[in-house]
Amino acid sequence: MRSRVGAGSWCPKRLRWYLEREPWALSAVPHIFLRVIERQLRQTSPGASPGARFGAVSVVHRFGAALNRHVHFHCCVLDGVFEGGPTVRSSSDPPNP
Ligand SMILES: [Zn+2]
Repeated sequence: MRSRVGAGSWCPKRLRWYLEREPWALSAVPHIFLRVIERQLRQTSPGASPGARFGAVSVVHRFGAALNRHVHFHCCVLDGVFEGGPTVRSSSDPPNP
């Protein structure tokens, strides 16, 4: 498993109006974002099946450093996918023989 750890926040400006006013958008955006990450991890993890799952935690942050309104998400994502049990397939693993 790769030992790299990263952090960051991101939200397109066009979505901010909806994120500040529409509760459905506040749950839909991170769901879509994390689904794309999961698909990418599956594709880049050698030997991972289509049913492999990833691990992530997402938190909504509603304000910026100046306590201004700034809706964005913080996500912590494991760099790899899990296969039905304790097996972890990482994007940095060599392919299965
Ligand atoms: Zn934040």
